Amino acid sequence: MTIPALKPCPFCGKPPAMRWTLDEPVIECANRKCAFQPSTFLHITTDNARVLAMKWNERKGDD
Ligand SMILES: [Zn+2]
Repeated sequence: MTIPALKPCPFCGKPPAMRWTLDEPVIECANRKCAFQPSTFLHITTDNARVLAMKWNERKGDD
């Protein structure tokens, strides 16, 4: 399983971090100074890190 490279945080431009909570991967902005610190935690529930990464990389306006 190949996990795509994660796009930077759309708000601060810093690279995000992937961590695991229980058995689920979470991608979130790792920059503590980021105003939004977006996280997939509340929005995406999957145990598939690849799917999660693809969702994180989806940006409104890309299509
Ligand atoms: Zn950020």
